[in-house]
Amino acid sequence: MPELPEAEAARKRIADGALHRTIEGFSLGEVTYMDLPGENDRERLIGTQFTRTHRHGKYIFVGSTHGPWLHIHLGMAGSIRVLDAGDDLPKFIRFTVEFEGGNRLHFRDPRKFGHIQVVDDLDTFIEDKGLGPDALTIGDNAFATNVGGTRGAVKSALLSQKKLAGVGNLWADEALYRAGIDPETRAVDLKADRLRHLHRSVREILQAVVDTDAIYAKLPDDWLIHHREEGDACTRCEGTIRKKTVGGRTSYYCPDHQEAA
Ligand SMILES: [Zn+2]
Repeated sequence: MPELPEAEAARKRIADGALHRTIEGFSLGEVTYMDLPGENDRERLIGTQFTRTHRHGKYIFVGSTHGPWLHIHLGMAGSIRVLDAGDDLPKFIRFTVEFEGGNRLHFRDPRKFGHIQVVDDLDTFIEDKGLGPDALTIGDNAFATNVGGTRGAVKSALLSQKKLAGVGNLWADEALYRAGIDPETRAVDLKADRLRHLHRSVREILQAVVDTDAIYAKLPDDWLIHHREEGDACTRCEGTIRKKTVGGRTSYYCPDHQEAA
């Protein structure tokens, strides 16, 4: 499932290929679904240019200083392609922005859980969604308050998009593995230095995945992502990888070096 790094890779693709070109029209895929901009919203964008991109957590935006913005959510399996008019199209293209000169911005979504909508103001949108600060840029104090102030399991706190936006199941496990914290530990019981270590781990992991454009095979062999199997050897100690459910989510961890508070 796309997480923050996939959203960031998609944002970069849009920034590299779809800005400063006049929008001539749109086309919809053969199978359409409800969560795409309607005719009136599409009409508002024709003749304008996208000049900026933005990402907050897993949410991607492309627009201009005074709006409107196109908000793209990748859902379970969505992706972005920027292609020339004559290029072969992959299957499952749901929505296309057509630019003057032949460039096309395509939204591909085989599973139809993604959505696109036109939004006028980013800050209002992010506030209405109740999203916390972006997980890549949240400061130490906000992390300590939002995550460290949680009475429940630290893993659930990391996954809460209201506390920090953009961390999904894989990278929550990876960060806790690196920081040596049991996923079930009550966040509020973690000492300040362990919380800071966790924050640093979240940031370093997300940034490293972003730097690969979310191609997981390029990540180092000793990351948990390559060892998410019960009984696999821990890469950080002599222990063995185990699985348990925390807050309803399957969690891989090493009971030997990941300690409770
Ligand atoms: Zn271990």
